[in-house]
Amino acid sequence: MNPSKLTRKDLMALYGSMRSRFGFLDWWPGDSADEVFIGAILTQNTSWKNVEKAIANLSDYGLLGVSQIADASLSRIEKAIRPSGYYKQKALRLKSICSGIMHNYGSLGSLFSIKMPKLRETLLSMNGIGPETADSIILYAAEKPTFVIDAYTRRIMNRVFGTSPEIGYESLKLCFESKLKRDITLFNDYHAQFVELGKNYCRSRPICNGCPVNSMCRYANSG
Ligand code: SF4
Repeated sequence: MNPSKLTRKDLMALYGSMRSRFGFLDWWPGDSADEVFIGAILTQNTSWKNVEKAIANLSDYGLLGVSQIADASLSRIEKAIRPSGYYKQKALRLKSICSGIMHNYGSLGSLFSIKMPKLRETLLSMNGIGPETADSIILYAAEKPTFVIDAYTRRIMNRVFGTSPEIGYESLKLCFESKLKRDITLFNDYHAQFVELGKNYCRSRPICNGCPVNSMCRYANSG
């Protein structure tokens, strides 16, 4: 299905069914913008469990902040974030991104004061920050409304509404942003609901029996 054919009603019905089951999900797990920012970079290609261990280590080392990472030695960052996988590559990336922010903006808050869409362009210009990471940072750390697309979103939209599994990131993002009210709480919770559904029901091998959206799902009703 062409995503432009989806209506606001379709998207809100999907959201409503997930929310009725899972309740309002209070995302993102993080105590400060710096923590959420660092977590969004560390979570690339690994599970959140591993990120939590790395975040706990960074906290123990006194490195859970953009300025602290910028000032720390690479070996110390590597040691702290080892549980997050690809730790050498991620340490280099994290240090380079944090140093760049401190050098160019002086603080994460000052970077986040850039208006959209310039903020998104700025994040995307940083080495190692792709669209999903940039949008996660904007939504959950900078607290500005942007819709995050991930593998769960693609899979669930494909199964429920028949959108192409290969749909481009920006096309699917536009589908949500053009139909829904640009509301930070809605965008925040909608993405969290997708992750919850994807983890518990819409896995690579789906568990349609008991899935909260099975009555509207094309895949489940395709016989
Ligand atoms: S009904 Fe099945 S295929 Fe459809 S969203 Fe739920 S788990 Fe996925």
